[in-house]
Amino acid sequence: MELLKQRILEEGTVKNQNVLKVDSFLNHQLDIELLNNIGLEFKKRFQNDNITKILTIESSGIAIACMTAFHMKVPVIFAKKSVSLNLDESCYESDVYSFTKQKFYKIYVSKKYLSSEDNILIVDDFLAMGSAASGLIDIVKKSGATLSGIGIVIEKGFQDGGRVLRSKGLRIESLVIIDSIENGNIVFR
Ligand code: 5GP
Repeated sequence: MELLKQRILEEGTVKNQNVLKVDSFLNHQLDIELLNNIGLEFKKRFQNDNITKILTIESSGIAIACMTAFHMKVPVIFAKKSVSLNLDESCYESDVYSFTKQKFYKIYVSKKYLSSEDNILIVDDFLAMGSAASGLIDIVKKSGATLSGIGIVIEKGFQDGGRVLRSKGLRIESLVIIDSIENGNIVFR
């Protein structure tokens, strides 16, 4: 997606060799017009898959999921990262290792909102080692729902997540894939 590549080159900053900061349009301030284009692009790629719900993880995935869901006319479910009083007692849960926070955490989805009748599209902002996606895939499996595919805004192709998930036969649609970030220089595939 050219528009996205351009924004990454113009506004992305590299925190270290592995972490790309895109706070000005995706992870802190949100560019709704760009997100709308991202939603339309995911719709184009998955519109023939009879998706019934979009699943993501709080918090950065939510805006992406909402824009996609708006165009696909389906609900969004976001996995929660903490238990609170208003979370249903009956939940699917899984473990995720946070690449940016360097620690494990649990994610939860109420059993009320996922069932074996659902056909799920997972979306997220980044794919790095694949831990967040794997946690969501695990929850889809536990619910008995079908997983149609995974839509990723920025895949870091130099980390292993994409390769591992594709080798399991999963359909991953990444809007941009970064092959390397060396000396602050971003190279797209
Ligand atoms: P993974 O679980 O695939 O290792 O990492 C994906 C998750 O970590 C994403 O949900 C995203 O929030 C965060 N993440 C991984 N790499 C980056 C990065 O380079 N930049 C930003 N902003 N977030 C990242």
